[in-house]
Amino acid sequence: MSHPLIIAFDGPAASGKGTLASVIAADYGLPFLDTGLLYRAAGYLADVEGIDPAQAAARITPELLADEALRGRVAGERASQVAALPAVRAALKQFQIDFAYQPSGAVLDGRDIGTVIAPDATVKLFVTATPEIRANRRWKQLVKSNPGLTFEDVLSDIRIRDERDSSRSSAPLEKAGDALLLDTSDLGIEAAIAAARSLVKDRCGDI
Ligand code: C5P
Repeated sequence: MSHPLIIAFDGPAASGKGTLASVIAADYGLPFLDTGLLYRAAGYLADVEGIDPAQAAARITPELLADEALRGRVAGERASQVAALPAVRAALKQFQIDFAYQPSGAVLDGRDIGTVIAPDATVKLFVTATPEIRANRRWKQLVKSNPGLTFEDVLSDIRIRDERDSSRSSAPLEKAGDALLLDTSDLGIEAAIAAARSLVKDRCGDI
């Protein structure tokens, strides 16, 4: 192998890719980067400080990435807006490449890991599920802290984000030609983990 073990997870919002990626990272003892958090942080910091999102992208700190505010619905929507800006993607690119190609190997999840950040990743999974199933999962998480939120609100968010992420000209959400497709629509969490483990093991071998 000419480069470290890199495991790339891509897919739309709430497909389960983040959960699966963190489990696989723990299995293989690899560092894990949720790249969506970078875009969330850039959008959030830009709004809080009133600065250009590309400038904000260059000023992300580990403390900011740990901020709970990044996990909410507003931050997700804002992330998808700033993620369409080529200057923001450019500002975040090298950090992600360095993370992916560190000597220990790495697991990353996002939208363009297998297509742009690590096109020669050892294994690429494209994790998806129907919009309704993804909205239902996300709604169950978000309604705990926002009791007025309806399933329809979340489904509408998901559809808007899918459309924006897939249609942007800069690094759109798309399955890499050599990515393995994992549709989690009919899978519970344990079954989805088992399926991801099996796909990764086929390519990477036993731990
Ligand atoms: O994965 P998460 O929902 O946190 O991502 C938030 C937004 O950030 C996505 O909707 C997408 O627009 C953007 N994103 C991206 N490229 C990535 C990760 C996230 O464009 N690698």
